[in-house]
Amino acid sequence: MNKESKMDTAKCPICGKPADKSYVPFCSKRCADIDLNRWLSGVYKIPTNEAPTDAPAPLPSDSEGDSDIA
Ligand SMILES: [Zn+2]
Repeated sequence: MNKESKMDTAKCPICGKPADKSYVPFCSKRCADIDLNRWLSGVYKIPTNEAPTDAPAPLPSDSEGDSDIA
């Protein structure tokens, strides 16, 4: 059993090179940055009408207590 790192065969999702231990799953800081940038720009592009799940949005109690209207 000399294969101590079977999981090390991960490939960089950005350029496809073998991932580096320090930047797994990326091959380098550059690729990690690229991915981070993509992720961030993707997040900022999304119109955030809804609040993030970790921050409960204050619901207007009006819309729920209007069962009076027939
Ligand atoms: Zn890469």
